[in-house]
Amino acid sequence: MPVLSNTNPGGLELSPAVVWFVPAERMRDGVSIVLEQSGFFSLTRPKKKVGIKVHFGEVGNNNYLDPEFVRAAAITAVCHDLQPVLIETTSLYRGRRQRASEHIKLAHEHGFTLQKVLAPVEILDGEYGEKFYRTNTDSPLTPKAYLAGKLRHIRYIINLAHFKGHFVTGFGGTIKSLAMGLAAKAGKLAMHSSTHPHVDEERCASCGNCVDYCPHQAISFVQYVAHIGRACTGCGGCIAVCPHSAIRVSWDAASESVQRKMADYCRAILTNRVAIHFNFLRRVTPNCDCYPQTEQPLIPDIGLFASFDPVACDQAAYDRVRPVLKELYPHLDPEIVLEQGAAIGLGTRQYQLIPI
Ligand code: SF4
Ligand code: SF4
Repeated sequence: MPVLSNTNPGGLELSPAVVWFVPAERMRDGVSIVLEQSGFFSLTRPKKKVGIKVHFGEVGNNNYLDPEFVRAAAITAVCHDLQPVLIETTSLYRGRRQRASEHIKLAHEHGFTLQKVLAPVEILDGEYGEKFYRTNTDSPLTPKAYLAGKLRHIRYIINLAHFKGHFVTGFGGTIKSLAMGLAAKAGKLAMHSSTHPHVDEERCASCGNCVDYCPHQAISFVQYVAHIGRACTGCGGCIAVCPHSAIRVSWDAASESVQRKMADYCRAILTNRVAIHFNFLRRVTPNCDCYPQTEQPLIPDIGLFASFDPVACDQAAYDRVRPVLKELYPHLDPEIVLEQGAAIGLGTRQYQLIPI
């Protein structure tokens, strides 16, 4: 029987799930308090790695999670004889985060240094996103999930998500943080697009980098322009090696499909892992931390929600901002991810709020 995150330390399903709430003015202490009170550490074994999932923010966007919160999680983990490491993956879209070395530099520039946070940064899917593994799921939409290679070595996860709006999914919380954040490029591509990458012929400078890189020999030159052929598996690595941004993704998947696949991926990631999830409703912006601008928050800071159940955690957070997000994205139904999460056993939409 797979271990999913909506189980309490006794191993029984919580229905409704417990969701802890810490108001904005107490958030700095809240991370440690919740980690201690939840019983998370009774589920871990000493000396093991614990992956702290964080989004380090895009260039020009300063609304990412304050490194102080991450430090609090790392210190608490160290006190319980665990080895904290900040975990992320390369991005699918172009930018500094699409390569591991630049992603780590950017994380350091944003304050996520070993000195400040007391945990190193580890990008789990290789320099270009080429390190991944496949796992089977029982969902017809996602028969195989492509996960970051080094995730295999991480059994414990503290998922620190910045809750905010999102123009495709309506909102991004703990489910999206894991699904998009720990899937390999191939997984992100599978969630966002119905096709493999393609070459923009106008931009291709015939440098040959992608031809040399492709692990499946799927790229060849046709009249001096790179061409992606049938052998392409959709790993996405070539997107990061092209110095001319000529390899493109069709961001054509519909919101419903993206949301359902996110829930599937989150379940694949959490199977046989122990995780606790935090949604920080602080600087709740219209768009995600990948957006290259520092947007103004939509609402005053609310606080943090935390749970062993990512569906309940997202439901509780969403319930607090529903009218604002509905007004912002009236054409989207952000509850699809919650519905799918409940349907596949990722968690429950019923929760009991415990104020701290
Ligand atoms: S052409 Fe396809 S298989 Fe080759 S690197 Fe690009 S996405 Fe991967
Ligand atoms: S890496 Fe980019 S520019 Fe170079 S051959 Fe491939 S598509 Fe063309």
